[in-house]
Amino acid sequence: MNRPIENCPNCGTDLVGEEIPDNLKEHYAGTHWSKKIGIANHIGGDVVSWMCPVCKHQWKKGE
Ligand SMILES: [Zn+2]
Repeated sequence: MNRPIENCPNCGTDLVGEEIPDNLKEHYAGTHWSKKIGIANHIGGDVVSWMCPVCKHQWKKGE
């Protein structure tokens, strides 16, 4: 299983978490949890930005 590479664009913190258990993988797009925090415009809305849990830097989803 390849471990994805994802780092905070500001501080470089490794944002890849533990591998998602096989019985949960079908519900998620990826293979590993992510430590980044999803930011939505309103409660229950789609995630539009990510925030680094370490430095609080925010960046647009997809960038
Ligand atoms: Zn950061």
